[in-house]
Amino acid sequence: MESNFTADVLAIAAHRDDVEQTCGGTLLRSAARGLRTAILDLTRGEAGTRGTAEDRAREADDAAKILGVGWRDALDLPDGAIANTLENRVKIVHVLRQLRPRVVILPYWQARHPDHAIVASLGYEACFLSGLAKIDTGMKPHRPFKIIYASLYADVRPSFVVDVTPFMEQRHSALMAYRSQYANQAAGGGLFVAEEEIRERTFAEARHYGLLGGVLYGEPFVQKEVGLVDDLTLIPVQSI
Ligand SMILES: [Zn+2]
Repeated sequence: MESNFTADVLAIAAHRDDVEQTCGGTLLRSAARGLRTAILDLTRGEAGTRGTAEDRAREADDAAKILGVGWRDALDLPDGAIANTLENRVKIVHVLRQLRPRVVILPYWQARHPDHAIVASLGYEACFLSGLAKIDTGMKPHRPFKIIYASLYADVRPSFVVDVTPFMEQRHSALMAYRSQYANQAAGGGLFVAEEEIRERTFAEARHYGLLGGVLYGEPFVQKEVGLVDDLTLIPVQSI
């Protein structure tokens, strides 16, 4: 993947396969619209019950190809123990200043997994620091225009949904690229959902959010800011 790549949309997540679960369809839709997309995973998956960090690196590359992203990398934050420290914020600032994304997707700030909740604040603060000239990384400051939160697993009403209907099969293939995690196997058999059930669940979740947006399948997002409207006839609305 190119080293001088810049992104329109950057998804930041705690674990390899988080993005595939919460906003893979949105990345596919963005790429189909000609936007340059990228993924930054903050950990490498060394604490997982199934598979090794090396397995997951290979699978993450396969998933990135399916999602059509132009750039993907993983930092080395500790899996299961991500902390919002200055050191970690600056690691993300380096990536933000390199990729210069216009939109950043973060996990929603309330989550069952502590890593996911931390990444919401860690990522937000990194986006803020990235715009400050005083944080010297030898690179030009850059502040993303918009931060949105992927809320598929959160019990919260989304601000909007993205129609991912045409991309559902690819979205599912990207998730299933993580064979070490999702293929039926003995390790973690009591902990993990059977392969056949994963498809059912992911399609049902996407169907639920699609209904909220008046389409077949959707992915939900929360934005903190109130939207500013210029032309009342251009407010996006459901077509039903
Ligand atoms: Zn995760």
